[in-house]
Amino acid sequence: MSVKVLKFNQMLKSYKYRIYPTKPQRELIRKHCGCVRFVYNLALEAKKVAYDSYKSNLTAYDIIKQLPDLKEGAPWLKECNSQSLQQSIVNMDTAYTNFFKGPSRFPKFKKKTGKGSFNIPQNVKVKDGKLSIPKFKEGIKTNMHRCIDGVIKQATVSYTPTDKYFVSILCDNGKALPAQSPIISSTAIGIDLGIKNFAITSNGQTFANPKYLRKSEKKLKYYQSKFSRYKGKRTKHRAATLYEYVANQRKDNLHKVSNKLIGENQTVCIETLKVNNMLKNHCLAKSIGDAGWGMFVEMLEYKANWYGKNVVKIGTFEPSSKTCSKCGQVNKELTLKDREWDCKVCSSTLDRDLNASINIKNFALKKHVCPGRILKNQGELPALVGVLTPEAHTSLVCG
Ligand SMILES: [Zn+2]
Repeated sequence: MSVKVLKFNQMLKSYKYRIYPTKPQRELIRKHCGCVRFVYNLALEAKKVAYDSYKSNLTAYDIIKQLPDLKEGAPWLKECNSQSLQQSIVNMDTAYTNFFKGPSRFPKFKKKTGKGSFNIPQNVKVKDGKLSIPKFKEGIKTNMHRCIDGVIKQATVSYTPTDKYFVSILCDNGKALPAQSPIISSTAIGIDLGIKNFAITSNGQTFANPKYLRKSEKKLKYYQSKFSRYKGKRTKHRAATLYEYVANQRKDNLHKVSNKLIGENQTVCIETLKVNNMLKNHCLAKSIGDAGWGMFVEMLEYKANWYGKNVVKIGTFEPSSKTCSKCGQVNKELTLKDREWDCKVCSSTLDRDLNASINIKNFALKKHVCPGRILKNQGELPALVGVLTPEAHTSLVCG
């Protein structure tokens, strides 16, 4: 058995390169993506049926054992690297288990879309600008724009709707992750994520939602509506190219912001994403901005791991916008439209987003001072928050 489940306590880094497969190689890549999708869906179906009908839990290994029989019925699967097929079953099993463990969604059946990917869990080599993986004997031309540091663990080959091909190589450089720095108020920062401004921090920094994104989004909307009417191939390609451009720009910006925040602070406090609020926004621009949040939080988390920093999340039920960060009074009348409000108790004027980011920091630090403490209602909050102002806790160390 060659299936690996990686544990992320080692220093693992992934490197992404553009690859330039020949025409037959492109076809084989697409075949691989189709086969792993087929096996993934079949395995998910088997797992569901086994549970629904017999209340039994099929493990990944149980399903993998059936692969040789499956290949007899579907001989085209033999053209693919069998380890990639096995890995796709493991991935399905992980997604299934994650659903029962926590807030993840139930795994979905994979549909055929304009993009695809497959894992190669073993036998990945890079030599003389060529990527060597099983079933691709001649090697695939690769643009090695940077050197790989460490031992190759696994790789993922993917293609985009604009017909570009990539490989993402995961490496272990043998170093252990740095020790986590202590969570101290003076080196912690709270971040409020928003639509108008991408992020506002508790020390008053603002990160704008770059304008070029909004410009392209208008165009993108135009292409998408045109495509829904005429179904033209050229329109589809243009929309895909533009979408990719926007996605890259956004990713670039997210890297810049997350690098800065992780670089300058020891602890970053954020809110768990508000999925319900995201669904309320019908506007395309907004939903694209929202999609960036998930990626941003992921970036913060893995970068924090690399550099021994902390990311502390607070629950969505915490009233971060409605609480006055100066005195702790909860303003229940606050609506989404109010950008600024006056606290009735201490009469301070509060900027909605800045106030929220300060509260996020306070709530997160409080969570670390008394972990496991669950607030039953909002009425309990003011006193606690009042005590936990940043000034009062500059020397607080915990963890
Ligand atoms: Zn107040």
